[in-house]
Amino acid sequence: MSLSRRARSISPSPTLAITAKAKEMKKSGIPVISFGAGEPDFDTPAEIKMAGSKAIKCGFTKYTPDSGIIELKEAVCQKFKEDNGLDYETSEILISCGAKHSLFNAIFALCDEGDEVIIPSPYWVTYPEQVKMTGARPVIVETFEGNDFKLTPAQFKENITSHTKAIILNSPSNPTGSVYEPNELEGLARVAVEAGVYIISDEIYEKLIYDGKRHISVASLGKEIKDLTITINGVSKAYSMTGWRIGYAAGPKDVIRAMSSIQSHTTSNPTSISQLAALEAIKGRQECVAEMVKEFNRRRKYIVDRLNKIRGISCITPYGAFYVFPNVESLLSMRFKGEEIKDSFRLSQVLLNEAHIAVVPGSAFGASNYLRLSYATSLEDIENGLDRIEKILEKLE
Ligand SMILES: *Cc1c(COP(=O)(O)O)cnc(C)c1O
Repeated sequence: MSLSRRARSISPSPTLAITAKAKEMKKSGIPVISFGAGEPDFDTPAEIKMAGSKAIKCGFTKYTPDSGIIELKEAVCQKFKEDNGLDYETSEILISCGAKHSLFNAIFALCDEGDEVIIPSPYWVTYPEQVKMTGARPVIVETFEGNDFKLTPAQFKENITSHTKAIILNSPSNPTGSVYEPNELEGLARVAVEAGVYIISDEIYEKLIYDGKRHISVASLGKEIKDLTITINGVSKAYSMTGWRIGYAAGPKDVIRAMSSIQSHTTSNPTSISQLAALEAIKGRQECVAEMVKEFNRRRKYIVDRLNKIRGISCITPYGAFYVFPNVESLLSMRFKGEEIKDSFRLSQVLLNEAHIAVVPGSAFGASNYLRLSYATSLEDIENGLDRIEKILEKLE
């Protein structure tokens, strides 16, 4: 068997691997508490599900235009105008099979072999792999906890070469929960405009934001940066619709046209039924989002507070998404039953095997001294889970 160089260069998603192992253990009767989830634990709101059922009943079950139905594009334009102060025409919008798919289309439309794409770490696991799939090179730039894991304009500038094609930004961030402030985005936008580098801005967690922080779309900061930005968003996280697979992109007409063309020869249209459900999500009552945010916020406060009380763990406050990214560096020189815990991967294995707690090691996101815990799970599970973590860590010496 001989697989392509590209296929061999990519690694499977480590987050999915951990959740799969935890599910397997659960199935065999082990009471695993999982902090691994990358999706909201709430049901898709009833009106949205109804819109999907209605689409089936009405026979809206055939091919749609490859780049999505016009009604949904119009709703997305309206959303960009109201939420982000951005004016787009429908020809500047692409509807895809999830934000992940929009992201892939964007990277595929922009990058050639030999191009470089700057990715601040900690990063979402998919970014470097998608860049590698196009033959381009991910340039990982480390950010620091002291700066809330945010890339500075100076760091951005230092890493630009004649090969740099784009940078991928993600605010609010998975895995750190960091949110860029307007002035920070302005600084990054200035560097991008000066160098003519595209910004691929993944804003999938825009609605899951806390403590009065405001989400800013980098494209809204001026015409020059708008012409260089592809904004990626979707309904998966805000409306608990991960299984429906609807995401979208907005950007310059020529880039969106290229992305649509790529999509037309790979998946064709996103599912007709899901497009009508997404239309209801975006145009319908938004109370469901506020309720979800309120519950996430309650858990966020609890989990940050508890983690900071555990010996050897410190955790900065995340302002968005539904993850915490605690620093576990001081545990990594310790021993469990005589064996050295040499990295966060080993620590996550000990947590899973000995305490039946599933977490994702920071190494999956390019930051090995950390763990990622998702609080998209019940407060009761969070309480019990943290009790278990506290107890097992007391046994480290
Ligand atoms: C979940 C997630 C996505 C993908 O969302 P889909 O629309 O379900 O494909 C994209 N980016 C980040 C950072 C995510 O966490």
